[in-house]
Amino acid sequence: MIRFECDRCKTSLSANDARRFIVRIEAYAAAGPVDLSADALEKDHSESIRRIIEQLNGADPDDVEDQTYRGFRFDLCTECHRAFLAKPLG
Ligand SMILES: [Zn+2]
Repeated sequence: MIRFECDRCKTSLSANDARRFIVRIEAYAAAGPVDLSADALEKDHSESIRRIIEQLNGADPDDVEDQTYRGFRFDLCTECHRAFLAKPLG
């Protein structure tokens, strides 16, 4: 049997435990409007792409991920789920 524990208070929970709640959080960079005009689409972007690749070459993958997207998944017991809903940002 797969066992879980509350990621906040460490209470033991089973896979089908009615007291177990799953919380998923996504953090990602807010993108500005995308320019799909004919001028933008016909423009040569190879220099911009080359610069981005150059910047990424020496970058720490975790830093790059932190700047673009990060997903989290938590198992919470009933009490910790209630506390999360009351104050999601702590
Ligand atoms: Zn808990």
